Amino acid sequence: MKKLENMEYDALLSSFKKLLKQNGLKFTTQREVILKTLYSNNDHFTPDTLYFLIKEKYPELNVGIATVYRTLNILESEDIATSISFGSQGKKFELGNKPHHDHIICKKCNTIIEFEDKAIEKRQEQIAKEKGFKLTGHLMQLYGICSKCQKEEKGE
Ligand SMILES: [Zn+2]
Ligand SMILES: [Zn+2]
Repeated sequence: MKKLENMEYDALLSSFKKLLKQNGLKFTTQREVILKTLYSNNDHFTPDTLYFLIKEKYPELNVGIATVYRTLNILESEDIATSISFGSQGKKFELGNKPHHDHIICKKCNTIIEFEDKAIEKRQEQIAKEKGFKLTGHLMQLYGICSKCQKEEKGE
């Protein structure tokens, strides 16, 4: 994992420009809007929801769905964006520069809630140490059924 935490937008933008160049792609307003939208919305997006949000906000830009998919994959290749996979239902993306957090995910509606727990973080460090590892990162995803979906199941 690269040191992206709390990176400011300008720094993020210059990494993005470099990345596009490496991939033989031009820096365009359309591509920047994808980065900017991820940056300014503290949320997890499927490529489709991101696409509709951009279309609504910047109708004049004509951003294509293929551009959104491709740009997200490029951003993810350098950890500028990270994703949570929902198997055949696709992925949800967020920016990789957010402060560290873990996720609890609803298996029914794919809602993602972020959390951070000091005790869990600390315990992970201890386990790594016990195994002779220097911890460089971790990925924790808890799965379950959110309270809203539980109510719906009960027909409330
Ligand atoms: Zn749910
Ligand atoms: Zn998150």
